[in-house]
Amino acid sequence: MNRIAKVAVDLSLDREFDYLIPDELISKIEIGSRVEVPFGKRHVNGFVVGLTDESDFDELKPIGKVLGEKSLITEPVMELARWMSSYYLAPFENCVRSVLPAVVRRKAHGEKQQLMVSLNVDEASRLVLQKPEHVAPANEAGSLVYEGLTEKQSAVIHCLEKTNSMLLSELTVAAETTASPIKTLEKKGLVTLSKESIYRNPHEGVEILKTAPLTLMPEQAVALKKVIEAMDAEKPETVLLHGATGSGKTEVYLQAIAYALEQGKGAIVLVPEIALTPQTVDRFRARFADKPERVAVLHSSLSDGERYDEWHRIRAGEAVIVIGARSALFAPVENIGLIVVDEEHEPTYKQDEAPRYSARDAAVMRGHRENCAVVLGTATPALESYCNAKSGKYTYVDMPSRVDNRKMPEIRVVDMRLEGQRDGKHGLFSKELIYEIHARLDRVEQTMIFLNRRGFSSSLVCPDCGYVSECEHCSVKLTYHKARNRLICHTCGDERAAPDRCPECGSKEFKYSGAGTEKIEEVMAKLFPKANIARMDSDTMRKKNAHRELLTKFRLGKIDILIGTQMIAKGLDFPNVTLVGVVNPDHALHMADFRAGERVFQLLTQVAGRAGRGQVEGEVIVQTYTPHHPAIQFARRMDFDGFCDQELAFRKELFYPPYAHLTCITLRGKQESLVEKTGESLFYYLEQAVSDEVMLSPLVPAPISRVRGEYRYQILMRAKKTGVMTHAVRRAVAAIKKWPKGVKCTIDVDAMSLL
Ligand SMILES: [Zn+2]
Ligand SMILES: [Zn+2]
Repeated sequence: MNRIAKVAVDLSLDREFDYLIPDELISKIEIGSRVEVPFGKRHVNGFVVGLTDESDFDELKPIGKVLGEKSLITEPVMELARWMSSYYLAPFENCVRSVLPAVVRRKAHGEKQQLMVSLNVDEASRLVLQKPEHVAPANEAGSLVYEGLTEKQSAVIHCLEKTNSMLLSELTVAAETTASPIKTLEKKGLVTLSKESIYRNPHEGVEILKTAPLTLMPEQAVALKKVIEAMDAEKPETVLLHGATGSGKTEVYLQAIAYALEQGKGAIVLVPEIALTPQTVDRFRARFADKPERVAVLHSSLSDGERYDEWHRIRAGEAVIVIGARSALFAPVENIGLIVVDEEHEPTYKQDEAPRYSARDAAVMRGHRENCAVVLGTATPALESYCNAKSGKYTYVDMPSRVDNRKMPEIRVVDMRLEGQRDGKHGLFSKELIYEIHARLDRVEQTMIFLNRRGFSSSLVCPDCGYVSECEHCSVKLTYHKARNRLICHTCGDERAAPDRCPECGSKEFKYSGAGTEKIEEVMAKLFPKANIARMDSDTMRKKNAHRELLTKFRLGKIDILIGTQMIAKGLDFPNVTLVGVVNPDHALHMADFRAGERVFQLLTQVAGRAGRGQVEGEVIVQTYTPHHPAIQFARRMDFDGFCDQELAFRKELFYPPYAHLTCITLRGKQESLVEKTGESLFYYLEQAVSDEVMLSPLVPAPISRVRGEYRYQILMRAKKTGVMTHAVRRAVAAIKKWPKGVKCTIDVDAMSLL
């Protein structure tokens, strides 16, 4: 019997405290319970994150009382947290924190409770109007006073006679009074005050019209049928829905969710970055708009109060369809019928702090545990998911055609090396791209220009002495942001004023190389002076609704050319976009990551998918210095199978995912020698601990060897099963008797980024 509870108190302290569980509470306390505990000289509220029967401390104080009836976490979600803890080697408390929004845990914002005032009709009916002392305007009942009541009290009663009950805040306005006469009326038994929770609706004021289900194209109909079969199966399955961009995956999700609702079940829909996909969210809200309270939306730009309310609406069973980013997977939906992971290949589903879980993989696990079907949807399946489908672990459904049989856009690859040879200079844009943009402007069609690099120039170089501006804290170059005239580190965010002369030799001849979105915008404005040009990247999208506003302008045709980073690559659907230009995807290919080719292929496919979604066919121009790279060539031919074949052969050869699971251990600290020494002894113990199923790579400096002044070293492990690696890591870490202060270690199971 666990007699000690680990409690995270509501004081924003990032640690837990041990408390004794008194006998009378033992049956009431579980993980997820809210409790009141003594803390110093006062009592504070907290949240039970763990139960144990051992403590490092002797004299523990007992828990005061349990608050509320329900644990804040449902049992299956708690189980999921347990699985995450063991699979991703993360402290359980950490995982518990992840599955419950901080605001719900802390209850800092509480429910926005309002007092509701109701008229006690029986009592009030006995009231008698008395003759006014002064002559009142006959048609103004409000000025008539009841016997035994003041003028103000009478005014309150008059207001309530119309509606029987009103919010206190509304009533005081309507009766032009304060709360005090209402309190007096309560004492007289004429009204009752009760607490009402008012949900803050983050979408208030947004009008949504209900949409009817669309008629499905044959491929969509087959897909829906297979999804429903997966939902109905005795052991519900995971479906990989491989649908081309524009093939209508969302409609399939919507109809599958409608089916879940018919069965009395709920659904969770995960989208990669919800702030970037307002259109998708709107479509869900619109389809279920007849009962909008059924839909909850969880995303990062909600206020704490809104997030708290949405979560409690779900917990109360009022909202049964949850749409959100990564952590929405843990929404306390009970009796869940379907989990959709849209754009399942997106790396943003992997959390980059502990617990380093993949929401896609955790979704499959949740589906498995709660007996519900999971749909992974994408135009470019992650190779892991693709292999799971090919091996029969997942059901594979493909929708290669676009709805209404719209053609896929034609993709042209422009060799920028030849472009440079032809006229002896390296411009930013090829003649073809400029020509095609002109044509679009003439026809009043729209263009999107994609470049995955923000800022003005990616480096500042002195041609006289060779000086390159680098971050003082990281081993990366600083990016020049012209509008702000700053040099900014995109790794740690550090920034400083751009120098007007070389700090090394004093020369004023700086060279800016490597164009970013800011520069593209500037050059475009010169090339197309009459066009309306806008830029969308994290520098221009800092304000809360900036993204939505810009996209609305674009939709209304007020922008001719939209320039952007990956923000514009995802899920956007603008029928009037007939040209997409991709500028220099090459640098992404040169990243020190075995997934670089896969990323570029996915990105090009996604970006190309933005073109030609309306009546007019679309066209894509890719400008590159490495036109023959397989990722670019396969993307040009829209040949996913071809890309997979060659990429999988390479992965198999080198024993990389999906043929192996990969664990990346990173050690970091300010003192390089200590980091390296610690890494070496960890490697030594790992060598002792691993079985021969594990391929262990030696300690090496990480590709980005320094970040925020900390040196970084890595050890990679690969094996067919994760368990054999985590087992060895546990033993090796335990073997290091005294972990040196100043060296931090992160363990990333199924790591998505190795930089
Ligand atoms: Zn210089
Ligand atoms: Zn930096």
